[in-house]
Amino acid sequence: MDFMKSSARDNALNALENQVYDLVVIGGGITGAGILREAALRGLSVALLEAADFAAGTSSKSTKLIHGGLRYLAMGHIHIVREAALERKRVNQLAPHLAEPQWLMVPTSSYFEYLKYRVGISVYERLGQVNVSDRHFNLAADELKAFEPVLDVAAFPRASVYREYLTDDARLVIANIRAGIDAGGVAANKIAVTGVLKDQGRVSGVQARCTISGREIVVKARGVINAAGPWVEQVCSLDAISMPKAMVLSKGVHLVIPHAKLPLEHMVFTQSLDQRPVFAIPRGDVVYIGTTDSVYQPGAKIWPEVLPEEIRYLLEPIRRYFGVRLTQADCLTTWAGLRPLIYEAGKSSKEISRKDEVWISASGLITIAGGKLTGYRKMAEAAVDAAADLIGFAGTRSAGDTPLPGGDFTGSIDDQVLHLTQRYPMNDGAALRLVRLYGAEASQVLALGAELLVSGGSLLAGEVAWAMQQEGAQSLEDVLYRRTRTALYQPREAASVASQVAAMMGAELGWSDAKKAQEIAQMTALLAADTESLVSVAA
Ligand SMILES: Cc1cc2nc3c(=O)[nH]c(=O)nc-3n(C[C@H](O)[C@H](O)[C@H](O)COP(=O)(O)OP(=O)(O)OC[C@H]3O[C@@H](n4cnc5c(N)ncnc54)[C@H](O)[C@@H]3O)c2cc1C
Repeated sequence: MDFMKSSARDNALNALENQVYDLVVIGGGITGAGILREAALRGLSVALLEAADFAAGTSSKSTKLIHGGLRYLAMGHIHIVREAALERKRVNQLAPHLAEPQWLMVPTSSYFEYLKYRVGISVYERLGQVNVSDRHFNLAADELKAFEPVLDVAAFPRASVYREYLTDDARLVIANIRAGIDAGGVAANKIAVTGVLKDQGRVSGVQARCTISGREIVVKARGVINAAGPWVEQVCSLDAISMPKAMVLSKGVHLVIPHAKLPLEHMVFTQSLDQRPVFAIPRGDVVYIGTTDSVYQPGAKIWPEVLPEEIRYLLEPIRRYFGVRLTQADCLTTWAGLRPLIYEAGKSSKEISRKDEVWISASGLITIAGGKLTGYRKMAEAAVDAAADLIGFAGTRSAGDTPLPGGDFTGSIDDQVLHLTQRYPMNDGAALRLVRLYGAEASQVLALGAELLVSGGSLLAGEVAWAMQQEGAQSLEDVLYRRTRTALYQPREAASVASQVAAMMGAELGWSDAKKAQEIAQMTALLAADTESLVSVAA
C-alpha cells in the first residue's frame, strides 16, 4: 500500500486521478473489502476508497463470529443459515486463523429447552454439511461441570456443545484488502467520497477528499459500488437518489472483562431475560460479552455511546449462568457497533432479517445493503455480478480459492503456535495472539522487531512496523484499534504504549512533534470514551 509518507501519498493520489477504473468501491468495511478482492480476481480494474480507515465502521465492532446463527433458524431464515454455515468452512480454507472452529456451549435450564436446541443444532449441522468429527455433543452433571467449571450446573443442568467459527473482524477486512491489492486492485484509506460524477445522466466516477491533506480528487470509473454499510443512505443522497428501501441502524454493545474474573474455557451462548443471545467469548486474557440489539437514531454523535442500562443488561446473564456478580467496575472497556439492516414494516430490529440486497439506481449507482460479516464473499459476488453486467464486463466469477494473506498454511493453529515458541522466547499465549492476528505471516512480523514495547505487555515493535509497511496504518488509532486490537483486548496497555507507538510512527511517516502530541491526545480521548460509561455507572 503506497499511501504512507505524504510524498508517496500524493503520487498515489495522482495515480488514482490518472486512470479510468472499471469500478470504484465506496467503503472499506468487510463488504467493500470483499468486493475489492472479488473484482480484482476477476480481472476488473478496481479502486476502493475508505473515508476513515479499513474496518473503522461496523466491521471492527461485531461479535466476531462466522456463523449461521441458531436464532435465524428459529426465525425460519433457512437460506441465510445454510449459506452462512457453508461460508464459514470456505473462510476457514482461505484463512484458518481468521475462521477458527471453536466449541460453543449452549447451557439449558429445562429438558424442553435442551431438546429444542438439540434439534436445532442437528438441523444446523445438516444444512452446513458439518464433518462427523465436528458434530455436537451433549453434556450433563459431572461431565458438564468438568467441561466448563464456572457454569452453575444446578441452574443449567444440561448443555449441547457445537462448532462455531471465531474470527477477528478487522483483521479479516485487512486480509481481504491486501488480497485485493495483491490481485491488482487499489485501496486507499482516509479518502472520503464527497460526490458522485455523472456523464449524460450516468454515473462516471466520484469526487473525493483526502482527509489527511485536504486534497480534492476525482476518480473516474465505469461503475461505482456503494458499500458504505451504515452510511449507504448518505452515499445515495450524494447521487440525489433515495434508496428503494429504508435502512434501520441497530446498535450492538460489547463489554470486555479480564478472563480472571470469568475464567471460561469455551465460548458460551447465554440468553438475556428478553430471550436474546448474549455470547461470552474468551479471547486471550479477556472475555468479551455481547450483544444488545436496539434501533439507533444517529444524532449529533454518529457512533453510539454505551449506556448504563446496556451494561447492566449484558452483565445480568453472567450472574444467572455463572453465579459471578460483576459490576461495571470489573469491565476493562466496551465497544458499540451499528448493524446496517434493511427496514421491514412492523418488525423490531432483532426480528429483521440479516439478508442483503443489491440495488441499481436509474443513474447506475450500485448499492449493496444489509447482510452480515459471515456472508461477505457471497455479497461480494452478487455486487460484482451486478457491476459486471452493468458495464458489460464478460469475465467470470473467480474460483476465489487463493488463500488470504497469512492464511497459506496447512496444519492447525496449534502447529503454528508451536512453530513460533520453538524459534522465539515466548509462551503459548503470546504466540497464539500473534498467530490469530497474522497467521503464517507472524514470523515476518517478528523479524521486524520481536521486542515488547512495554515489559509484561503483549505488543511487539514489529507489529507497529508491519501495520505501517504492509497494512496501510496511518494513525495511532489504526494501529492500536484495528491492526493489533490492543485497544480492545489490552486497553490499559494501549494507553501506556501510545507515546512509543507515536514515536515509531512519527519516525516512519515524518510526523512533527505537534502531530505526535495530537495523535496521543486523540488516542487518549478514544480510550476514555470507550470507558466513559463504566466510570459514570460505577461512580
Ligand atoms: C454488535 C454487532 C455484532 C455483530 N456480530 C456479527 C457476527 O458475529 N457475525 C456476523 O457475521 N456479523 C455480525 N454483525 C454484522 C456485521 O458486523 C456487519 O454486517 C458488517 O460488519 C457490515 O460491514 P459493511 O462493510 O457493510 O459496513 P462497515 O463495516 O460499517 O463499513 C462501511 C465503511 O464505509 C465507509 N464510508 C462511509 N461513507 C463513506 C464515504 N462517503 N466515502 C468513503 N467511505 C465511506 C465507513 O467509514 C466504513 O468503514 C454484527 C454487527 C453488530 C453491530
